[in-house]
Amino acid sequence: MKPLFLLLGSNLGDRVSYLQEAYLQLSAIFGESGQKSSMYETAAWGVEDQPAFLNQALLFHLDLPPLEILAFTQQVEQDLGRERKERWGARVIDIDILLYGNTVLETPTLTIPHPHLHQRRFTLAPLAELAPEFDHPVLGQTIAQLLAVCPDTLPVRLIS
Ligand code: ATP
Ligand code: CA
Ligand code: CA
Repeated sequence: MKPLFLLLGSNLGDRVSYLQEAYLQLSAIFGESGQKSSMYETAAWGVEDQPAFLNQALLFHLDLPPLEILAFTQQVEQDLGRERKERWGARVIDIDILLYGNTVLETPTLTIPHPHLHQRRFTLAPLAELAPEFDHPVLGQTIAQLLAVCPDTLPVRLIS
């Protein structure tokens, strides 16, 4: 069994419900013993004229091929009604694969670790709640260390 870290994001509609429903659907696939971080609110990254995001990190333990994991997460995105538009555009749900044990993978459809993980405070902050001491398999630093030196200036607000 390997630890799988996911990041949920939503910036359209009832964001809290979309995150909760995504967790339920992912638990049905990956197992009921998942863990979740708090939710965090952050202004949109990359394309700024859109509503703020809620983000939450999840942790599951499993042993499936990475591309099967991606197929499952994309299926949940579809089930929740995501419409595929431009990259970084507004969406009801986004499910990114952040880390999968010490897996390092680069294919046309899947890169692990997620290539922007270390550049985004809205990713590192919830991830650090679940696994501050987890080593990034490429950068060789822990999540807490990456967060401490992250240059991202977008404020990340903890939602109670
Ligand atoms: P970003 O990846 O920068 O956060 P995004 O989440 O807005 O951007 P999407 O439109 O959701 O991007 O995804 C585009 C494609 O990225 C997906 O179709 C998928 O094949 C690919 N992809 C590559 N690596 C990953 C990963 N680690 N997790 C999820 N999708 C990935
Ligand atoms: Ca994303
Ligand atoms: Ca995505």
